[in-house]
Amino acid sequence: MKLKEIYSDKNSNPIISFEVFPPNSDFTKLLEEIKILKKYNPKFISLTYGAGGKGGRSFELLQQIKALEINVMPHFICITSTKERINSALIKIEQAGIENVLALRGDIPEDEKNKDFDFNHANELVEFIKKQTNLSIGVAGYPEGHIESPDLISDINNLKKKVAAGADAIYTQLFFNNEKFFNYTEILKENGINIPVIPGIMPIISSKQIAKMTSLAKITIPKIIRTNLEKYKDDPKSLQAFGIDYATTQCLDLLEKGTIGLHFFTLNKSFSTSKILDNLKGEKWKI
Ligand code: FAD
Repeated sequence: MKLKEIYSDKNSNPIISFEVFPPNSDFTKLLEEIKILKKYNPKFISLTYGAGGKGGRSFELLQQIKALEINVMPHFICITSTKERINSALIKIEQAGIENVLALRGDIPEDEKNKDFDFNHANELVEFIKKQTNLSIGVAGYPEGHIESPDLISDINNLKKKVAAGADAIYTQLFFNNEKFFNYTEILKENGINIPVIPGIMPIISSKQIAKMTSLAKITIPKIIRTNLEKYKDDPKSLQAFGIDYATTQCLDLLEKGTIGLHFFTLNKSFSTSKILDNLKGEKWKI
């Protein structure tokens, strides 16, 4: 099922999807976690692609997830790649019966910052995929602005280019303050962007994870999270429980205010995401 159909399905509320990354070695553990997550009826699982074109055995993993009868959405990174390489990967993807991709630029390697590549921005990749394939295309959005952008508005002006090139849905960077997301979707609407904007939810699992994420992206950490990171710095179980409660409250607020989908950055673990979805279960939300 293509992204357009997925997000217009009125029988699913909310529309759940998960993100995983290719493990360095054996896939067994990840596939076990995915089997647990399958009971929440995800519309698809998206698979990240390593920075700098390191995909490893991504295609093999995509096929193994598909074999569990779950739709997959591979991430495509264009920076440092060539039209030829992207084209042959797209052919392989379509031949495998995959219908959706997440089109990304990726991070520019430090020593290649001033190079001119076949694709310099994600909108060029979206345009290329649209021309060469029948795939449905998701793109990335940043509720607090992309780290390289001087401000939110200039980033949104660039997002418009991805939408104009044919993107069907926007998947956001994680955020911990829902107001940032609501403000973002409001500005997108004012700018004529009407495709689905799906919030990225990352359950807090460890202080190390939060430190890494905030060093790579613009993400505001609310005081309550900072307090609990400090409070539970030597108590990972309690920190994880706090993370589950926090994300549950965040998701409920998003759904109550009309958000149609939730995309979970699972970090390849089912525990926190499952607990959050169990907490959301009820008469109102079909989970
Ligand atoms: P772009 O849309 O090209 O934007 C990058 C920057 O350039 C922004 O500041 C933007 O404002 C600006 N810009 C965009 N278009 C133009 C233009 N035409 N002219 C001038 N400036 C422009 N990274 C990975 O390596 N692997 C993954 O699997 C992965 N998955 C992700 C999934 C999600 C949901 C998100 C939100 C991010 C993901 N990333 C991943 C991170 C992403 O690759 C980085 O944030 C990267 O720096 C930007 O990618 P982009 O597709 O948003 O780039």
